[in-house]
Amino acid sequence: MLLKIEGVSKSYGKKKALTDFSYSFENGVYAVLGPNGAGKSTLFNILTCNLKQDEGRVLWQGKDIRTHKDEYLANIGFIPQQQDIYRGFTFERFLWYMASLKGIKSNDAKTEVKKVAEAVNLSEDLNRKLGAFSGGMKQRALIAQALLGSPGILICDEPTAGLDPKERISFRELVMEYGKNALVIIATHIVPDVENIAKEVIFLKEGRIAAAGDPNKLCKNTEHSHGIESELEAFYMSVNN
Ligand code: ADP
Ligand code: MG
Repeated sequence: MLLKIEGVSKSYGKKKALTDFSYSFENGVYAVLGPNGAGKSTLFNILTCNLKQDEGRVLWQGKDIRTHKDEYLANIGFIPQQQDIYRGFTFERFLWYMASLKGIKSNDAKTEVKKVAEAVNLSEDLNRKLGAFSGGMKQRALIAQALLGSPGILICDEPTAGLDPKERISFRELVMEYGKNALVIIATHIVPDVENIAKEVIFLKEGRIAAAGDPNKLCKNTEHSHGIESELEAFYMSVNN
């Protein structure tokens, strides 16, 4: 999958949330790192057609996502940032509902629902209501719906929010595996979530790209004993100060 963002800007009134953002994505895992307010969710809401940019365009396989919206959205899985949704639905009903929104046929939905529930380790909880789920379980339910239909593009906005350390590790493993055959973009303000799994990182600061590229090349001192983990963290701090 190819996703090309060209000169995208978005303001809320006078507040500039995203300024002249350009980047090209292909298969693999990408991280958008930045503190709260950097513009990550604004970018992701534009990438998922939930928000219209003021300027610029987003091309998917060379086609403008706004003029090829239906076709494009059928290829997207989205983990939105907010999680308090469909409290009265059982997890299974929620997945069936999301599958129908995605246009997955009911024959396929049966297998898909089973598969994605397993992927997030919630197979035993399909009959429970989402309102009774813990924060980590709700987040895993959101991850599960994004995986329905194995979309070629997976867009994750702060996907590890509310996950405990064990759940974080299994999410990292899931993403690493998924990124082998798909384009995965993860927004986060937590560096350890994406170190060692992102082939490219984009540091977002006040709506602009402060630095971007292969983390091993961005962080020059990787031969030193601390390794890429702390180098990336240090680089992130330097970019955002
Ligand atoms: P992030 O996801 O990185 O925390 P956001 O994209 O949510 O950043 O926000 C970027 C900037 O735009 C922030 O200053 C935020 O306050 C502002 N903002 C976001 N959404 C709205 C909105 N609906 N109305 C007004 N300002 C907004
Ligand atoms: Mg956000």
